[in-house]
Amino acid sequence: MTEMQVAEVGAAETAVPDRLEFDVIVVGGGPAGLAAGTVCARAGLDTIIIERGRKPGTKNVMGGVLYTRPTAEVFPEFWKEAPVERCVIEQNQWIMTEDSVIKMGYRSPHFAEGVPNCFTVLRVKIDQYFAEQAQAAGALVINETKVDEVLSAEGRVIGVRTGRPDGEVYAPVVILAEGVNPQLTQALGMQEDLKSNDAAVTVKEVLRLEPEIIQERFGLGEGEGATIEMYGAPTQSMLGTAFLYTNHNSLSLGLGVLLSEFAELPDTPHDLLQELKQHPAIAPLVEGAEPAEYMAHLIPEGGYNQMPALFGHGVMIVGDAAQFVNGMHREGSNHAILSGKAAAETAIDAHNKGDFSERTLGHYRQRLEEESTTIADMRKYRRATGFMERHPVLSVYPALAAYAFEEMLTVDDKTKREKQWAIIKEALRRRKPWEMAWDAVEGGLSFV
Ligand SMILES: Cc1cc2nc3c(=O)[nH]c(=O)nc-3n(C[C@H](O)[C@H](O)[C@H](O)COP(=O)(O)OP(=O)(O)OC[C@H]3O[C@@H](n4cnc5c(N)ncnc54)[C@H](O)[C@@H]3O)c2cc1C
Repeated sequence: MTEMQVAEVGAAETAVPDRLEFDVIVVGGGPAGLAAGTVCARAGLDTIIIERGRKPGTKNVMGGVLYTRPTAEVFPEFWKEAPVERCVIEQNQWIMTEDSVIKMGYRSPHFAEGVPNCFTVLRVKIDQYFAEQAQAAGALVINETKVDEVLSAEGRVIGVRTGRPDGEVYAPVVILAEGVNPQLTQALGMQEDLKSNDAAVTVKEVLRLEPEIIQERFGLGEGEGATIEMYGAPTQSMLGTAFLYTNHNSLSLGLGVLLSEFAELPDTPHDLLQELKQHPAIAPLVEGAEPAEYMAHLIPEGGYNQMPALFGHGVMIVGDAAQFVNGMHREGSNHAILSGKAAAETAIDAHNKGDFSERTLGHYRQRLEEESTTIADMRKYRRATGFMERHPVLSVYPALAAYAFEEMLTVDDKTKREKQWAIIKEALRRRKPWEMAWDAVEGGLSFV
C-alpha cells in the first residue's frame, strides 16, 4: 500500500511521496469509474480512483432509473442494502400536446419479483454507496482532485498529472471514466470535439413530497415506483424527452433536448421545465411539492457513430466518455457499469500477462461486443438520432394523434366515417403522403 492510500480520502493535507505508482488509475468517480475501480481492487490490483467532485455523486446527474441486472454484475444484490428509492413497477410513455395527453403504460408485479428490474435512485446517495464498495475492495478513492493531463512516454500512457502539488501518479494502465465532456480523451486524440448534435442539454428538479402523497397520486404501494417519459409539447416538439420519476419522498422532474435544437430557441431549458410543471397532466402530480434541488448536465447523444477509439497503449475509455448512452431506453448508468467492468477485466488480464499494449487492451472492445449488450445496443440505434433530426416526428405526430383521439372519442353530429375522413384530411394537411411513407420506412430502418 502506498503512503497515499493510508491518507484520509479528500484531505487537502494528504502526504505525497516522490513517485506515486499504482497498478491502475481510474479517472472519474461516476458509475463507470467506480465499477472499474471496484473490479480491479477486488482482483488485488493497487487501484486509485481520482474524482474532482467533493464526493462521488456530487457532480453527477441522472433521471434516474438504475437497471438492476447490469448493476448487480459488479455490485451483487446491491438493492438489498444500497440507498435505492423505489422499485419501479409501472413505466409510462406519454405523448403530449399543450393541453392534452395520450397515455401508454405497462404495470407488472413481475418487475418487482426475484431480481427486480430497476429502481429509481438519487446519484448523490447511490454513487457514494458504489464508492464505499470500491473502498471496501481496497481501492483508494481520492476526491476534490482534478486530473489535468494524461502522461505519455514512447507512445503509451504511463500516468496522469493532477492539480495537486507534485500531483503526478503513475500506472501502466489508465481507465478514463471522465463522463460526457471527455477532455482528457480528446487531448489524447482519441475523440473529436463534442458537436452540438452529439449531446443533449438536460435540467432536473428534485421536488420534495410526502411518501404517502406520492403513493396515492401514482397509485403505488409502499416502496413501489412509477416512471413517466414524455414526448412532444414538454420539449416544444424539439428532439428530446421529459421525465417524471417517483423517489421515496421526492419526485424527479426533468427534460433534455439536443443542444443543436436549443440553439435556435429563445427559451431556456429552465423555462421549459417551469412550463412543464403547469401542464394540466403534470400540475396535479407535482402540486404542493417543494423544489429541493436543481441541476443541469449534458447527456451524450452521439452513440455508436461518435464512439471514440476505445483503447490505446495503456489506456481505455469507459461510460459516457465513450458515448455509451442509449437515450431511447434511458440507459446510461448500466452501460457505464458494464463498460467499467469490461475495462477492469481487461486491465486484470494485462497485469497477469505483463502486457499493456494496444493489442492486449483491445480485448476490452471484444468483451463489450461479446459479453455485454453495450456495443450491440449502440449499433442498433446508430441511425436513430439522425432519423429524428431529419423527420419532424415529435412535432407532427403527437398533435395528429391527439386530433385523432379527440375526434374519435367525441360524440357529435358527425358519423364515424366522416370522423375518419376528417382525421385523414388533417394528416394530409400536416404531412404529404410520400413524406409519411418516408417517415415510416426510414423510421423502421432506424429503430427495428
Ligand atoms: C438528466 C439526466 C438523466 C439521466 N437519466 C438516466 C437514467 O434514468 N438512467 C440511466 O441509466 N442513465 C441516465 N442518465 C445517464 C447517466 O447519468 C450516465 O450515462 C452515467 O452517469 C455515466 O456514468 P459515467 O461514470 O460514465 O459518467 P459520470 O457519472 O458523468 O461520471 C464522471 C465523473 O468523472 C469526474 N471527472 C470528469 N473529469 C475529471 C477529471 N479531469 N479529473 C477527475 N475527475 C473527473 C466527474 O466529476 C464525474 O464524477 C441520465 C443523465 C442525465 C444528465
